[in-house]
Amino acid sequence: MPGLDGNKMSKSYGNAITMREDPATVTKKVRAMPTDPARVRRTDPGSPEKCPVWQLHQVYSDDNTREWVKQGCTSAGIGCLDCKQPVIEGVLKEQQPMFERAEKYLSNPQLVKEIVEEGNAKAEKIARATMCDVRAAMGLGY
Ligand code: SF4
Repeated sequence: MPGLDGNKMSKSYGNAITMREDPATVTKKVRAMPTDPARVRRTDPGSPEKCPVWQLHQVYSDDNTREWVKQGCTSAGIGCLDCKQPVIEGVLKEQQPMFERAEKYLSNPQLVKEIVEEGNAKAEKIARATMCDVRAAMGLGY
């Protein structure tokens, strides 16, 4: 998955969009993405292949939108902010179900506590059985 600068997306590179990043931040980050350096002015044509935004269009856009980008970029028919808008919408759409799933736990922290406790109890049971096997294998009688 490409990051905001065209390199591999990674939190440590500072080029990531996190799963439940708020929409205003997503919008700000995508709008600030670097583009083809040839597009200094709105009237300068560009090449999508030289632009990290194009890589995100590969992930988030359909064929029609990609065609619109190709045409608009190479003819300077669209601006870079126009071009970034479908990417912003694609990211926000992808995040929506994650916000919905998280809401259940955010509004009920007790549910999270119960899940953790249940996991701990299961792990403890398995660890105890494993230690029993280890002691038996080593001939330890305690
Ligand atoms: S129009 Fe789109 S693909 Fe072309 S340089 Fe701007 S952001 Fe990149």
